[in-house]
Amino acid sequence: MKRLFATLLALGSAAVAHAAPPHYDVAAKFDPQGALDADVTITLSDGEAEKAFLLSDRFALQPMDLPPGVTMSVEPSTSPMPALNKYSFRFAAPATDPVKLRFRYAGPILTEHDSGNKPLRPEGYELFIDHMWFPVGADIQTRFTVDAAIDGLDPDLVVVAQGDVTRTATGVRIHRDFLDIDLPMVAMHGLQRAEAHGVEFYSRDLSTQLSGWYVKHAEGAARYFEAMFGPLPRKVRMAQVWRERSMGYARTAYTVLSEGGRNTPDITEVNPGRYVAHEIAHAWWMLASPLTDDFWLVESAAEYMSMRYVEHAFGAEELAKNIAAKRDATKDAGPVMGHGRPNRIQLYGKGPLLLLDLEHRIGRPAMDRLMIAMAKEPVHTTPVFLKHLTAIAGADAAREFEKALHT
Ligand SMILES: [Zn+2]
Repeated sequence: MKRLFATLLALGSAAVAHAAPPHYDVAAKFDPQGALDADVTITLSDGEAEKAFLLSDRFALQPMDLPPGVTMSVEPSTSPMPALNKYSFRFAAPATDPVKLRFRYAGPILTEHDSGNKPLRPEGYELFIDHMWFPVGADIQTRFTVDAAIDGLDPDLVVVAQGDVTRTATGVRIHRDFLDIDLPMVAMHGLQRAEAHGVEFYSRDLSTQLSGWYVKHAEGAARYFEAMFGPLPRKVRMAQVWRERSMGYARTAYTVLSEGGRNTPDITEVNPGRYVAHEIAHAWWMLASPLTDDFWLVESAAEYMSMRYVEHAFGAEELAKNIAAKRDATKDAGPVMGHGRPNRIQLYGKGPLLLLDLEHRIGRPAMDRLMIAMAKEPVHTTPVFLKHLTAIAGADAAREFEKALHT
């Protein structure tokens, strides 16, 4: 009996080791002009037959020493953005031991394909997946853990990153034992830090009205969503940067906001409230592929939850104004699904309105059960959502909603 138990334990731990997610060991160095020198080892333990990675073609890759039984081919790629190289690896036999792929490369961190977010600016660095500065899983949904040593950072840059972040004299060490598709980092001069429930907030000026509203509503939204979905898994590190482009983005326990276009004299509290609630909502809504139809389950779901927060914090009248603006903006939006990744207006306007219409059809208690069930799913796809909707509100409601997504 004891022996059998030991065997079962051994099998159990082998199965766990087999399922380990990819791990990145990153050693990177920036020179003062922003030239990057990088050495990235990716450990794959999941025994897949093949795996591809994307890296910007502005980096020159040294010849790779491939492990036995591994072959690689490289081709230019323009998907999901221009000027990439795609490195495709094939593994001769389903690997039983972890496979290590080591990328050594160098090149400028600045790129014209930066989605309006310069990676190096006078105030410091803002790095994220759009800069394609580390090997990114070609499916754009390969999530990994990471140990990174990033060197060449001026001592007075304040670093905001995920996980355990330790400044060294000339750089930073990042240990992240939770999963994400990205390795995002802000390292800027003059960032001040504030803390509240659910959020650690960084800004060059904490005394502005906008900074105050972000902290207040990050906390408010965290509490509101926690009442539905349970505790926020991790405190969200949030950096407010300053650039012209107003876009923000959320990763696991990490968010970047922009002052640009937002810190205007005529701002009202509801706009930053809705915006920061949207980013906090991504703590539960970020698990659908950004390359497919299903991406509405990331952006439309986060926006719908932020509308719920607006109603909670600012009242039904404020929400009604937002709904009217969305109805007006989406008159000619076209279907959310059926053509690959939905566009901006479908994601942030039409999708949330469809969820609101669904709430009106099935009632708020059923809607809450649906969103809570969905938030617990490890992978978010439309069929999974429709399965829960069918179980909670019946096949007719699911069919109707699926039709609306395609109309
Ligand atoms: Zn979003």
